Amino acid sequence: MSLARLLKKAPPRPFLLVLSAPSGGGKTTACGLLLKRLPWLSRCVTATTRPPRPGERHGRDYWFLNEAEFRARVAEGGFFEYAQVHGHYYGTPAREVREALRKGRSLVLVLDVQGGAAVKGRHPDSVLVFLAPPSMAELRRRLLRRGTDAPADLRRRLREASRECEAGLGYDYLIINDELDETVEALAQVCQAARLRLVH
Ligand code: ADP
Repeated sequence: MSLARLLKKAPPRPFLLVLSAPSGGGKTTACGLLLKRLPWLSRCVTATTRPPRPGERHGRDYWFLNEAEFRARVAEGGFFEYAQVHGHYYGTPAREVREALRKGRSLVLVLDVQGGAAVKGRHPDSVLVFLAPPSMAELRRRLLRRGTDAPADLRRRLREASRECEAGLGYDYLIINDELDETVEALAQVCQAARLRLVH
């Protein structure tokens, strides 16, 4: 390859990083800390039909839509991917993804494992990272400590966690979220490496 061609392809290049974990696995917390460390990275705000939790803000944490609004967006091809999870719809706004990549910004998509597979199918260069809890007992403790789930939801989330961890084995990277600062360090290293890839 000539030098001119190499320089044309030279990194850093923007990429999509999908961060998945079972509910309570720490993806929201780890993503928040990761963004503070890497100023060139942004989070793509997901649209959802699930009701906001206390403290969550429209446009910052999620775009909260009702079902009719969500369906209308689906019909006009407004989502990069979307899925129904735990009875609610979640979707990644296609425009946000397109514009970030066009401006050279890398994006973190915090998604469940269905979303991760859909993004990889549509954009094979995406980097998929799965955060697994150190154990199911610890996952349960964290969900209890977070205190956002009714007992029936908590049981369902724990039942689904094993299936989600199974799907995580198909990801590019696996990080066990034991010590939070080590998790964020590992995530930052994956991002730094992804940014320096030559994509063919
Ligand atoms: P998710 O977004 O994957 O559902 P959260 O980020 O809400 O998970 O994390 C679930 C709970 O676990 C939160 O209360 C969070 O503070 C806590 N948590 C996340 N990572 C760790 C960790 N490494 N050690 C201890 N607690 C953690």
